[in-house]
Amino acid sequence: MKTKTQRFLGAILDIFFPNQCCACKRPIPMDETFCKECEEKLEYLPDLSWKLMFPQSINGKRPDYDYANAVFLYAGTAKQAILGFKDHFALPLADYAAERLSLKLDSDGIDDIDLVTCVPIHRSKKLRRGYDQAERFAKAMAEVLGKEHDGSILGHTKSRVAQHQRGMAERFESAEKTYFLREDKPDISGRHILICDDIFTTGATINKCASLLKQAGAEKVSAVTICLTDSLGLLSAENIQTNKKP
Ligand SMILES: [Zn+2]
Repeated sequence: MKTKTQRFLGAILDIFFPNQCCACKRPIPMDETFCKECEEKLEYLPDLSWKLMFPQSINGKRPDYDYANAVFLYAGTAKQAILGFKDHFALPLADYAAERLSLKLDSDGIDDIDLVTCVPIHRSKKLRRGYDQAERFAKAMAEVLGKEHDGSILGHTKSRVAQHQRGMAERFESAEKTYFLREDKPDISGRHILICDDIFTTGATINKCASLLKQAGAEKVSAVTICLTDSLGLLSAENIQTNKKP
């Protein structure tokens, strides 16, 4: 319950720094992430086992991630929000997604994470944008889980073509060349690493990063993203529950 002073300060902040809905940019109260209309339309992933929604085979091999989950399907209002996440106004989406994923991790018995990291972007991109959205999300995950965040494990080589502009085969080929283990990385041997990214598409990126983390000695790699693209058609339309929070 908020005190009178907190409510008063919230009202003042609303006037001078209006908060915006992470999907439609409509003004909303300070402590909310979406307006009521968008919140009702959000495409939450169905309450199914992660194994039914995420690829269990990558290029004919068992994936290097041991667990994966996400909050939304990459569609409609949720897609609008994740696209806004590349812009400053939608940054609260990181905390919103982290809260929900911590509940999923908890109900799936993932309670032994040691360290949280993110899929890296090239530093020139971070400089251009002013922030790294996957890192923001990883920091929000670390905070909600009460774990350490370390963004110095993986590196990104510069590429002029964005991963979303590539075809399926090209994505795997490019992920192979794009990510590497940094020389100044911390010792992660025997640790359970949680890797975070904004969107899980084919799994090429997450799987390559998970494989590098294992190569560096990680015992287990779990992955969480804000959205999941159903590139393999594992989710049928009737499974998508709207307006149902996990
Ligand atoms: Zn809205």
